[in-house]
Amino acid sequence: MMLLQNYKVTNIRRNHCNPEWISVSAELGDDISQVLPYLNAVIKNAVYTPEVPNLNFKIERGAISLTPQEMRVGQVTCEEDATKVLDYVKELINNTWEKRESITPIYERKESIKAKDILDFLPKTNCRDCGLPTCFAFAMALTNGRKHLEECSVLGKPELIRDREALARLLQTVRSQEVIK
Ligand code: SF4
Repeated sequence: MMLLQNYKVTNIRRNHCNPEWISVSAELGDDISQVLPYLNAVIKNAVYTPEVPNLNFKIERGAISLTPQEMRVGQVTCEEDATKVLDYVKELINNTWEKRESITPIYERKESIKAKDILDFLPKTNCRDCGLPTCFAFAMALTNGRKHLEECSVLGKPELIRDREALARLLQTVRSQEVIK
């Protein structure tokens, strides 16, 4: 039986850094948490953060971010391309799940957290309300403790609560990595 039966597109927005690109979010009909460590094992460039949990990776046609109940596709130029990528990822999830007995799952992150991982969860409006010129600069400042999440006014919006919570968990991991170093 397929792990992921269906998905529903919930949000389409234009990328503020590159207006030629759009990002598409889709709510998943089924929880895919269990497949994430298997995808982490089979996708070479996967960046898995078990504490969120979240798995990011890139393919030629776009950038993908997965959480247990959401799939986001970025760096695509139109809705038609986004749908192709969403369908591709759905198939990848189901194929990986089907073959899981022959895959050794990886439950840990393969590399340390970087500012670009933090940026994935920021609003990317570059509105400067935090006092910095871009969301990426804010992400850098979060990783080294010069800024705090509360200083991004946009993240305070109720519809961004999931991103805010994910960021809080991600930052806790950054801090624990620093303690281990
Ligand atoms: S306030 Fe938030 S959305 Fe605006 S630039 Fe800073 S980090 Fe980005």
